[in-house]
Amino acid sequence: MQPVLDENTDLKCVILDIEGTTTAISFVKDILFPYIRKNLKKYLETHWEEEQCQGDVQALREQSINDSEEKKSSADKLQVVSPKILSNDENLELTRQSVVDYVLFLMDADRKVTSLKQLQGHMWKQAYSTGKVVGQIFEDVLPAIKHWISERKKVYIYSSGSVEAQKLLFGHTAEGSILEFISGHFDTKIGAKVEVDSYCKIAKEIGCKNKEILFLTDVTREARPAKEAGCQVAVVLRPGNAPLSDEEIQEFPHISSFSELYAEGSGVEKAKLVKK
Ligand SMILES: [Mg+2]
Repeated sequence: MQPVLDENTDLKCVILDIEGTTTAISFVKDILFPYIRKNLKKYLETHWEEEQCQGDVQALREQSINDSEEKKSSADKLQVVSPKILSNDENLELTRQSVVDYVLFLMDADRKVTSLKQLQGHMWKQAYSTGKVVGQIFEDVLPAIKHWISERKKVYIYSSGSVEAQKLLFGHTAEGSILEFISGHFDTKIGAKVEVDSYCKIAKEIGCKNKEILFLTDVTREARPAKEAGCQVAVVLRPGNAPLSDEEIQEFPHISSFSELYAEGSGVEKAKLVKK
């Protein structure tokens, strides 16, 4: 039985994953992505003349050209043919529809290309700022962040979602913006979450020793490299997350609420801190 937290080391920083950790996986899957699908056509109609929108369309158009060139040079004849975005000289309605078709094609294929992320980012920014989307966090998240700050610990975010998308979420929660409590944001620009080196780079950047960091995530493929880097880790169990295997339960401490990390006093509360 090992405690989650190493009692011999001062914890200085807490790094939080988002999806499945601070926020339900369903928020991204059932709210953010469907928002794009549902509102894309209307968004293009409303913002078509704007420079930003035309920049997004042009980036997507270039991606669609790259896709068809890659397709031509590929030996795999079974590859799905990607739709092409028409030129702005063509019929406006048809051109806009070709953008919609291509964006949906990218989303269906779960492509993580920059041009798609760029358009999604602009659409989400508008949705958050007009209150059409509210950033969801579990109810224990903000009290825990405030508790850690009261103990002079710093709180950071490390998510595969872009830093811009992270700031939108935490900048527009039901409690308003909580960005003031977050000391910094990291995305995959620093490295993939499955790489040991990424956690070392983050530690260096925030000026902490690896062992002074607690990393909370919902998946062991991220907890394992963080642990290998020498960070303290706990796997967070949330409604909607994939269940851990028996081996994973054995391998990693796990919690259902951030409050379990600082509950004090009774033996029962203390007991929650041990590896279950
Ligand atoms: Mg996650």
